[in-house]
Amino acid sequence: MSVQVLAAEMAEVELKDVPSKALTPESPLTTKADDKGIVESEPKAVATSATTPTMEPIVKTGDPSPGFLTPNTKMPQASAMKRTDPQQNGGEAFVNRDGTVAEAPRLKKIQFADQKQEFNKRPTKIGRRSLSRSISQSSTDSYGSAASYTDSSDDETSPRDKQQKNSKGNGDFCIKNIKQADFGRREIEIAEQEMPALMALRKRAQGEKPLAGAKVVGCTHITAQTAVLMETLSALGAQCRWAACNIYSTQNEVAAALAEGGFSVFAWKGESEDDFWWCIDRCVNLEGWQPNMILDDGGDLTHWIYKKYPNMFKKIKGIVEESVTGVHRLYQLSKAGKLCVPAMNVNDSVTKQKFDNLYCCRESILDGLKRTTDVMFGGKQVVVCGYGEVGKGCCAALKAMGSIVYVTEIDPICALQACMDGFRLVKLSEVIRQVDIVITCTGNKNVVVREYLDRMKNGCIVCNMGHSNTEIDVASLRTPELTWERVRSQVDHVIWPDGKRIVLLAEGRLLNLSCSTVPTFVLSITATTQMSMWPVFTCLRSMPTSLS
Ligand code: NAD
Repeated sequence: MSVQVLAAEMAEVELKDVPSKALTPESPLTTKADDKGIVESEPKAVATSATTPTMEPIVKTGDPSPGFLTPNTKMPQASAMKRTDPQQNGGEAFVNRDGTVAEAPRLKKIQFADQKQEFNKRPTKIGRRSLSRSISQSSTDSYGSAASYTDSSDDETSPRDKQQKNSKGNGDFCIKNIKQADFGRREIEIAEQEMPALMALRKRAQGEKPLAGAKVVGCTHITAQTAVLMETLSALGAQCRWAACNIYSTQNEVAAALAEGGFSVFAWKGESEDDFWWCIDRCVNLEGWQPNMILDDGGDLTHWIYKKYPNMFKKIKGIVEESVTGVHRLYQLSKAGKLCVPAMNVNDSVTKQKFDNLYCCRESILDGLKRTTDVMFGGKQVVVCGYGEVGKGCCAALKAMGSIVYVTEIDPICALQACMDGFRLVKLSEVIRQVDIVITCTGNKNVVVREYLDRMKNGCIVCNMGHSNTEIDVASLRTPELTWERVRSQVDHVIWPDGKRIVLLAEGRLLNLSCSTVPTFVLSITATTQMSMWPVFTCLRSMPTSLS
């Protein structure tokens, strides 16, 4: 049986089966937070005070556990560090975590074609700083294709300042350039060929509209694969409005094709943090239209609606959350008694974990590293932090290329699996001086801290495959004695006073999503899982919610 046929059949199975992991207001919580606020096993991370729900993915001992979700809650942590773009920094002062003010790190500016736009310089209503923490941890989990082949920066006008209309005169979207629509359409058609399950769903519907009445607001990577999902939702009768869950992963040409096709899309590659929230707001805040379903990746959209438009939940029937981090945030809400609608945990569905997380990363880790550094893998010593699904995928790919792979793990079962698979289990401190590449895959926070960064050898490549840019403590590298040099798009050399430099990829954000493409086929499986959740909400429609 071909994999295509298998996937199509899986789609059918999913449609028949009610997913097992629905978090309803009545669901018993399985969160295993200990009193110190550490959670290291599924659902992985919860650290919270008794009263304040947080949406933090993982907080280790000793970390402050900032409140996050409640309206008007300030964004601590990274927001306390002024987020800077190496291209933009002009010797500004920084506020350290302890509240002291420090001189900004020295930067060498190298201008690249795709870095001309400086959206962050836009004056903003809300102000960047207040939201910077959230964006820095905004979801980058699931997938996306970072390769936007038409990503020219010739036009420096912000999409927000442009009057945009598609060929039918519809202007309810905001993207980089509608003229790229034809090219984007071809990208979508290519993706369709590798997404047989979604295409099978369209075929099965045969003109029927099982999702008629569904008003879906989505926040995911805007890529050709997402476009196939959106167009499938639409073919089945749903209305969709969409924003990007990641400031770097939008394929501009795909966004253009969607806008040309009548979708309300608000996204472009290289959004500023303020743009990011503006786009989400434009998706949600429309007179005469209210969403009744949320499809989220990382929880930022859900967070925004809770924060700004809590009454919207009166009409919302359910949330489909894709990423592990978004799920953690939902658990926090649920624990605080604030999750007032059913939510589906797509991340834990076997169809995502065992395919997307594992194979997607196995197939894209090498691509991301190669495109950014041209590194040769054979003989290189690599340490992979975390031997979950993502870590397993990365380790397998690197081992196959002849790298010497070390693994760090805190979970005994996963640690044992690493041993059984032939990897050497180590403590990071043991190997940090000798390794050529460090890859984080934990979903945890502060896994590679400044102490380790200080001890790395000259030329060590450091990157992250996990959700947020806090797995590597990138903020700790923004200090005056270190010089940042942007050597390529998404590649920074961070240089110590003695001349040692490390190669930091994608500023510690997800490597594969920021710097490479990801395999369409596994995304088809996840997207089909998401689709199959909608009928469940139909069954749950009569459930009372605490807001209604
Ligand atoms: P997982 O829960 O299966 O694995 C994470 C592993 O990291 C666990 O085994 C855990 O014990 C270990 N871990 C946690 N803290 C650690 C530490 N300090 N040191 C060493 N090990 C530690 O999760 P997963 O599915 O592998 O996902 C991992 C991360 O990758 C998540 O943030 C997820 O959102 C993200 N993700 C990325 C992609 C991608 O395309 N890059 C795809 C899916 C998921």
